[in-house]
Amino acid sequence: RGGEVAREIPFAKPGSLTRIYAVASGKGGVGKSSVTVNLAAAMAADGLSVGVLDADVYGFSVPRMLGVDRPPTRMDEMILPPVAHDVKVISIGMFVPGNQPVVWRGPMLHRALEQFLTDVFWGDLDVLLLDLPPGTGDIAISVAQLLPTAEILVVTTPQTAAAEVAERAGSIALQTKQQVVGVVENMSWLEQPDGSRLEIFGSGGGQTVANSLGESIGAPVPLLGQIPLDTSLREGGDVGTPVVLSHPDSAASQALTQVARRL
Ligand code: ADP
Repeated sequence: RGGEVAREIPFAKPGSLTRIYAVASGKGGVGKSSVTVNLAAAMAADGLSVGVLDADVYGFSVPRMLGVDRPPTRMDEMILPPVAHDVKVISIGMFVPGNQPVVWRGPMLHRALEQFLTDVFWGDLDVLLLDLPPGTGDIAISVAQLLPTAEILVVTTPQTAAAEVAERAGSIALQTKQQVVGVVENMSWLEQPDGSRLEIFGSGGGQTVANSLGESIGAPVPLLGQIPLDTSLREGGDVGTPVVLSHPDSAASQALTQVARRL
């Protein structure tokens, strides 16, 4: 870093080997953050060097879900991200006093994101995952500007209404000329004691989003996985140990790990 011009985004430099995935959803509560932290933990367990940037200003939950209990520290001009389960984590929530809601406008969000990318000492990452706020807001545009090589990963539930808004979130990639790496359908079903699947939120949303994004982009968009409802996934998020680590053999963990390996 010595002598380098400050304010350069390492991942945006030509030749950067870091793969960047911006995890997007149409609306909140579909499991975008849960998917993000589990993909990160699964990739780290596979030996990759992984960072997560929680840019979900309205519902920053990544630190809790990964069990990060320490704030970032400073070294010289840089911010050292706390590490949990071998994942480096920076969240907008770490810079907000108390548990206050963030009421920032676009330009401030843009600057915060830029600072997280330039001033955080991420080191050599294989993968950087960004947890975006739900919807098609300013942050998605900022990500496209600051990290043009970031690929969009869309999370949806099987529900038609959720799928429609997820499509809109994904189709922002058309305008920004970003790649859509694929779709993850979450909360796909609940496995009954007799092994049958109860489709609480209906079915087909993930495939529908993948198909229609593929059509509007003009390139196939894969449905990368379907994650069932799972009590231990929710508990894992509450206690800060991702389910892929605490219950690696569960159906949800296997599906998440498979998605991580397809990325
Ligand atoms: P988002 O980031 O889209 O707002 P979260 O990841 O915060 O969504 O998930 C919302 C809630 O649903 C959380 O309490 C989370 O633990 C729970 N949840 C998410 N996915 C699942 C799942 N597959 N099974 C059980 N609970 C889930």
